Amino acid sequence: MFKKVLIANRGEIALRIIRACKEMGVETVAVHSTADATSMPVRLADESVCIGPPPSKDSYLNIPSILSAAAVTGADAIHPGYGFLSENAQFARMVVEHGFTFIGPSADFIEKMGDKVVAKQTVQELGLPVVPGSDGAVESVEDGLLDAKEMGFPVLLKAASGGGGKGMQVVREASEFEQCYNTARAEAQANFGDDTVYLEKFLENPRHIEIQVFADSHGKAIHMGERDCSIQRRHQKLLEEGPSPVITDEQRERIGSLAAETVKKLGYEGAGTIEFLYENDEFYFMEMNTRIQVEHPVTEMITGIDLIAEQIRVAAGYPLTVKKDRLRFRGHAIEIRINAEDPDTFVPSPGTITQFHAPGGLGVRFDSAIYGGYAIPPYYDSMIGKLIVHGRNREECIRRLKRAIRETVVEGVKTTLPLHEWILEQPEFLSGEYTIHWLEDKLAER
Ligand code: ADP
Repeated sequence: MFKKVLIANRGEIALRIIRACKEMGVETVAVHSTADATSMPVRLADESVCIGPPPSKDSYLNIPSILSAAAVTGADAIHPGYGFLSENAQFARMVVEHGFTFIGPSADFIEKMGDKVVAKQTVQELGLPVVPGSDGAVESVEDGLLDAKEMGFPVLLKAASGGGGKGMQVVREASEFEQCYNTARAEAQANFGDDTVYLEKFLENPRHIEIQVFADSHGKAIHMGERDCSIQRRHQKLLEEGPSPVITDEQRERIGSLAAETVKKLGYEGAGTIEFLYENDEFYFMEMNTRIQVEHPVTEMITGIDLIAEQIRVAAGYPLTVKKDRLRFRGHAIEIRINAEDPDTFVPSPGTITQFHAPGGLGVRFDSAIYGGYAIPPYYDSMIGKLIVHGRNREECIRRLKRAIRETVVEGVKTTLPLHEWILEQPEFLSGEYTIHWLEDKLAER
């Protein structure tokens, strides 16, 4: 096992990884920007190293600084968390070249799945159903228009190197195509440094259902069920639940086994998520995330497996501790993302948390690095924590979540907690009959 792990991240996920390491008897190193000097991960890690000024590009994305921190502290492995450098193939490669273990898949694999066009082609060849779309990148307006007319409008232009829901353009009719194509390429270039775009049929009423997969270096690959992440705004997830209210045990087993088989054939190692759109009883592959995800606790709550500990063990060369035939799904879990934002306008609301009280009780988990008196820096993502609740069934889970939200006190900044309370009252949410477009349509009506 590793003696010391460096965590190349901040906030709640850094704390989550420190917690897993402590329980495993592994020492931890937190790296931080000057803006995070008094953060919880810095306080709770065994050691900490300042890696630069507040802007991410100078600190959390500063590869030489992070590698130096690993060298001076004598760390053996680096956990990238999610976001930042977690899907940066060059980082993964450099970590290994400098003699550390990267807690994640190989750089080659990150590269392959990071190009969504290549990823789609790769998994399609292995038998996964994909969203109908262009055969590879769209090279010109003429080619794109031909493809679009063939699959029928509306279509969606997506950035091959995209992420975080950015760089997507819906094209409703042929006359809009050229302008959307140019915008999509310019946005892709500006956000991801790569102007390659591809086309997909725009599905009108899908759900976002993703499968958690896990593979070790001993040739074993399993799936750990699904998370339904259809409650979204601007293609970003706000609430996730598992199991999905709309899929059957047979469907789960079928798509889950297919996903596990795919990663096995690919020789994948570690935790991964295969994201699908689901419409009219069919699954369509969208992309694979080669890292731990924000919503991983949903799976932890229904399986009882510590996914971060499992990632660390697998990276250290141990076999998966979970056997497929022993994996049981228990009850229902929902996670809500708490963002420091105005719940009506979604404008970020950084500032100092004057009063804080965390919710508790049976089946309630609060993953966050905030505390009373904590100053939320304005430089990073506005997510300040996640509230995850488990119940014996969906109804109990929703009741418990409402109760837990009402117990939570975060004063001094605005948060999205009132928005979540409102979502939990909506008949479409309660019935489980919602699609990825539901929340935005409903917000527009408010
Ligand atoms: P990112 O990596 O930027 O998150 P994804 O490919 O995962 O991009 O897509 C993000 C979200 O965009 C999905 O969860 C879904 O809401 C929406 N989306 C993506 N592809 C389609 C499509 N073909 N039709 C309709 N909505 C889509």
